[in-house]
Amino acid sequence: MNDQQITRVPLIAGNWKMNLDHLQAIAHVQKLSWTLKDARHDYGEVEVAVFPPFTDLRSVQTLLSADRIPMKLGAQDVSPNSVGAYTGDIAASFLAKLETSYVLVGHSERRHGHGEDDQLVAAKTKAAVGSGLVPVICVGETAEDLEERGAAAVPVEQLNAAVAALPKDSEIVIAYEPVWAIGTGNSATPEQAESVCAALRHSLEEKFGSEQASRTRVLYGGSVNSQNVASILRLPNIDGVLVGGASIDSQEFARIVQYRKHVTAA
Ligand code: PEP
Repeated sequence: MNDQQITRVPLIAGNWKMNLDHLQAIAHVQKLSWTLKDARHDYGEVEVAVFPPFTDLRSVQTLLSADRIPMKLGAQDVSPNSVGAYTGDIAASFLAKLETSYVLVGHSERRHGHGEDDQLVAAKTKAAVGSGLVPVICVGETAEDLEERGAAAVPVEQLNAAVAALPKDSEIVIAYEPVWAIGTGNSATPEQAESVCAALRHSLEEKFGSEQASRTRVLYGGSVNSQNVASILRLPNIDGVLVGGASIDSQEFARIVQYRKHVTAA
């Protein structure tokens, strides 16, 4: 794969899960943006995105736009349907109207807690792309999968299923999140994360070709914090991190965003 010429801008994404109401969200994003401003953070060099609960999106969008904060907005879920009698669902087009750039699909808490299967994840991925959103396709193996089939088999299968119906050239982000690492404090080793992210990129190359595979960002997620982020992000196939628990502490998340300073300081 010739990916030497393509520069992938790292993406640091904060999945707040079901934390922070809309008032807390405003305070949190203000603190985060002030901290990053003080640190002269360049959002063009390291992209930052926050994924608040649905009820916060409008408030955060208004703040980002009024204060011209170049942070991106993401949603945590999306309906596979476009409009109609789907009580409780949120259409991709509604998210796009709120200037939402990204949406998580296939997060393990939806796969395992809400019974979402590969088919539904594929439909959500397609709906997101159809409305101009970039799906962050989450894939990852459970502890049992790891023991029985190794680290890469299940994530690769999940990715292949999610992108099966996508047009070539669709912009996507992939997030490799081992289920056993999410919220446990046990992150994957940088070597394991790199080897699965490389396998995911290879699989994308087989389906969409080397240019698209080289352009696509592959993130790692699972107990990332300011102490381990720099060692994860020095690896060639890892282009960012999806951060859960540590993203609702504005100071800690700001330290993660500035991971390059840790590398320089080390
Ligand atoms: C997540 O929920 O996507 C996640 C990675 O969580 P945590 O960072 O808390 O492990």
